Amino acid sequence: MSNRESLSISVAQVLRRAGVQHPLQRTITLDELNVGAATIPAGTPIELDLVLEATGNAVVATGALRTVARCECRRCLDLFDQPIVTEVREIFDPRPVEGETYPLQAELIDVVPLARDALLLSLPLAPLCRPQCPGPAPEVFPATVEADAAVAEPAGSLAGDAGSIEPEPPRDPRWAALDKLQLDR
Ligand SMILES: [Zn+2]
Repeated sequence: MSNRESLSISVAQVLRRAGVQHPLQRTITLDELNVGAATIPAGTPIELDLVLEATGNAVVATGALRTVARCECRRCLDLFDQPIVTEVREIFDPRPVEGETYPLQAELIDVVPLARDALLLSLPLAPLCRPQCPGPAPEVFPATVEADAAVAEPAGSLAGDAGSIEPEPPRDPRWAALDKLQLDR
């Protein structure tokens, strides 16, 4: 499979009946998608469960994508499978705007770029095999934010008394959102 794979779907019927919802259920595969420690290997089945609806000469696709990502736990470094479910609402337009809408040409849409974009955004940035993962050495590195930083740079980060610990670098706010999501499960 090449990176330029595509899956063109005719939306002729959708365009002819504005306001009518047309279900689109497909299982597709993509080339490998990877963000940090999370990967959707090439060929992993990706279920599309979408509804297509015409609005003017554009088509709106809403629904969900489901697949499984192979992740490396940020604490214990074990590999584990994490189900990925992501909701989408995207527009296919005859005059697409880069980064905002997808092309609709000759009554065809290609769902591959939509799937790739949506899944890349949904991969966990800091995977955890389970919310309470104690990590490789819980006595030495308690599973806290500080310990995670220490594990990432193990060379003597914990040396010195508490008073001399350097201020933590600001955390990517998306991590906090992800942690919350994972705890809410
Ligand atoms: Zn773990």
